[in-house]
Amino acid sequence: MSKPIVAIVGRPNVGKSTLFNALAGEKISIVKDYPGVTRDRIYADVTWLDKQFTMIDTGGIEPESKDLMLSHMRQQAEIAIETADVIMFLVDVRQGLVDSDFKVADMLRKSGKPVVLVVNKVDNFDKLMPDVYEFYNLGIGDPIPISANSKLGIGDMLDEVIKHFNPEDLLEEEDERPRIAIVGKPNVGKSSIINKLIGENRVIVSDIAGTTRDAIDTVVNHNDKEYVFIDTAGLRRKSKIKEELERFSIIRTVTAVERADVVVMVIDASEGVTEQDAKIAGIAHERGKGIIIAVNKWDAIEKNDKTIYEYTNKVREILSFMTYAEIIFISALTGQRLPKLFDVIEMVIQNQTLRIQTGVLNEIMMEATAMQQPPSDKGKRLKLFYITQVAIKPPTFVIFVNDKALMHFSYTRYIENKIRDAFGFKGTSLRFLIRERK
Ligand code: GDP
Ligand code: GDP
Repeated sequence: MSKPIVAIVGRPNVGKSTLFNALAGEKISIVKDYPGVTRDRIYADVTWLDKQFTMIDTGGIEPESKDLMLSHMRQQAEIAIETADVIMFLVDVRQGLVDSDFKVADMLRKSGKPVVLVVNKVDNFDKLMPDVYEFYNLGIGDPIPISANSKLGIGDMLDEVIKHFNPEDLLEEEDERPRIAIVGKPNVGKSSIINKLIGENRVIVSDIAGTTRDAIDTVVNHNDKEYVFIDTAGLRRKSKIKEELERFSIIRTVTAVERADVVVMVIDASEGVTEQDAKIAGIAHERGKGIIIAVNKWDAIEKNDKTIYEYTNKVREILSFMTYAEIIFISALTGQRLPKLFDVIEMVIQNQTLRIQTGVLNEIMMEATAMQQPPSDKGKRLKLFYITQVAIKPPTFVIFVNDKALMHFSYTRYIENKIRDAFGFKGTSLRFLIRERK
């Protein structure tokens, strides 16, 4: 499922981080068992009523001087306009209206994107409302008062945000063509791979109906089947600041991964897996997407008959949270194994949509529990009653047990491995929901 993207834009100190934390809460770090991956507060998943969306903070680091403020704000707004379905423009009732607010409001208005104007630090609604009305002058609609600190007005604000979600975006999901995102840090060869794929296959470039984003997707025809390659070219931004570059790269990854069925995560063979690679891989993993690790520039390293084997082990070791990912060694330069990439993509799509019958699943679970007794604690033993698959993309299973607290991560992993032994599910993560049945 592709979730809408909501971007927050606002000057430093208006309360973006505070609001972000209030909305995302604990969810900012869903995956805690690998280092450095989700600690950045750049994006988070939010659920409000029955709606889910991904929130991104385009803010980044504070500009060093007042002079740079306006260009910093422009850049934030541009990124938000390029990537978001809805933009939240956050202002500060204490600072009041400042000149750059008007400039940003102009940009947002011209973009035609839905904008929600949020006035923060309204800690006392009765007293401060007159000051809130001042923000009508921005000409981008009704200002919505909140206090991020005291969590006031947040519900009304979210109601306003989700009102703007476009039902037409859901059309994208009815499009049966597989959507592929090629991600990876700068210079690993993403554009070269896409260009090479386009060169060897018939291409239809089109603006796909229902996409409201500015990204132009590329449709590639391979063996009479159409594949949509997601492009977010607009986000290839330049910056002298390393943190900024990394931020752009992460925003670009989150937005592309969100819309993809399968993610091709490209790494540079001559560099190996870096920390930034692990971060990017973590984004695809969290979102339950199909994953292929493409080790590119395979032409550029010296090899013998063991190199692939050793390299595979090294990648598996570093990306140990996604052992299910397929690994393929390619060269965009020579075209080596690029045709095979389509075969692997095809396989991963099949696995993401695989449904296993309940009867078969329960047989596997019974056999597994017979072979290795479930754990017990203080005289109480875990009992597994029943398992059933409730969703695809990613395949999601519900296991009913007597006591959730007894179902340790390691025992869930054990059951997962048994299911994988039977059905493979290569290239896709599996989700397990544990429910209690007395
Ligand atoms: P950012 O730079 O936009 O991410 O802003 P921060 O979230 O870091 O907030 C800047 C300052 O404003 C911090 O000292 C916050 O505690 C404070 N702040 C944030 N929200 C509120 C609020 O609702 N009321 C008040 N009084 N202060 C707030
Ligand atoms: P991107 O930033 O990830 O899109 O990377 P590019 O596609 O722009 O490639 C970055 C650099 O790596 C360019 O100089 C490419 O020519 C080079 N490159 C890309 N793929 C390969 C490859 O398979 N082998 C070698 N030797 N160089 C490559």
